Amino acid sequence: MDALLTAFDRHLAQTSPYPIALDVVGAEGCHIHTRDGRRYLDLVAGLAVNNTGHRHPKVVQAIKEQCDRYLHVIPYGEFVQEPQVRFAERLTALLPPGLDSVYFVNSGTEANEAAIKLAKRITGRTGLVGCRKSYHGSTHGSLSLTDNEAKKFRNRPLLPDVGFITFNEPADLYRIDEHVAAVVVEPIQGDAGVRVPTMEWMMALRRRCTEAGAMLIFDEVQTGFGRTGTLFAFERYGAVPDILVLGKALGGGLPMGAFVSSRERMRLLTHDPVLGHITTFGGHPLPCVAGLAALEVLIEEQLAGNAEEMGALFKRSLMHPLIHEVRGHGLMLAVDLGDADRVQHVVMDCLAHGVLGFWFLSCPTAFRIAPPLSIGPADVDMACRTIVAALDRIAA
Ligand code: PLP
Repeated sequence: MDALLTAFDRHLAQTSPYPIALDVVGAEGCHIHTRDGRRYLDLVAGLAVNNTGHRHPKVVQAIKEQCDRYLHVIPYGEFVQEPQVRFAERLTALLPPGLDSVYFVNSGTEANEAAIKLAKRITGRTGLVGCRKSYHGSTHGSLSLTDNEAKKFRNRPLLPDVGFITFNEPADLYRIDEHVAAVVVEPIQGDAGVRVPTMEWMMALRRRCTEAGAMLIFDEVQTGFGRTGTLFAFERYGAVPDILVLGKALGGGLPMGAFVSSRERMRLLTHDPVLGHITTFGGHPLPCVAGLAALEVLIEEQLAGNAEEMGALFKRSLMHPLIHEVRGHGLMLAVDLGDADRVQHVVMDCLAHGVLGFWFLSCPTAFRIAPPLSIGPADVDMACRTIVAALDRIAA
């Protein structure tokens, strides 16, 4: 073991006994470079973060320019910081009217925590409803709404008063009653192995929340910013949430989360008590300028449309008797092999041949394809040939 790897193991807290441990020295576009001189085609994009590719020149430029102005100056909310204002203004211009006020935080899970708090304040209720197979983050509130018992059982007690409904199950909607503050839903579930609800069910969910006076929260941490072929996945259903939760690609490669709602609703966090949600680093100027630059790139380079096209190309090209199904929209895809050992074998074989794929938290029989949205047909072709060759080696 070289010295860096030894120190990685000894001094960095680990999340699993078997990290991939690529020793990264650089990244650009759809590729990652390692110290041993290898170059990997990235089908993970930092887990749906690097939607505009690694180190897009316009994003890097925006970060460098802001470094020459100021970095952190004050906890969120007190000063007028142009990067925050411009980013919130641009983001809300792209959203429906009820989503006109942005609160910037630091991560997807913090954004979910704050969205839950806001829903409780709006409704004066305590009940929360999540979806079966969901993932919303690793802190206590988000974990309470996450339906993965293996990740939860050692952390109880979690939030009280939480129930679960199942995608595409109309009868479950009647569990949303006058006691429920919020229903938290991924419009396309990510870590469940990419599960897509029907348009009818999503419309019925929207109607039921309105009838019951419950806030509908869409967690678009993973689906946002062009990943599924539209800027936001909710556009696919015509169902607008009361609170929208963002993260991952939001910060253009820098850490950031946000929740978005109407100005009237957000004002509840400003009194009784004042500072109803606070954060030191939320809205830091670097992720704000990076996120705004990335958003402009996403629009100028029509990356959501490219995601749709390249996603369709992946689906057409990934033909193999061992593939049960390729699910998803745009470049949020799950390749389901119906067998966890085969998934393990394919991911490691692809890695050995220069293609970085990844697993799902809650779907061991599938692996994910979620590259930067800027990927072109030549790289899609190379990825698919590598995956098919790995499957051929299993079948042989
Ligand atoms: N919500 C969804 C849908 C996610 O996929 C994730 C992370 O994978 C999160 C929330 C948590 O985001 P973070 O890891 O930034 O806390």
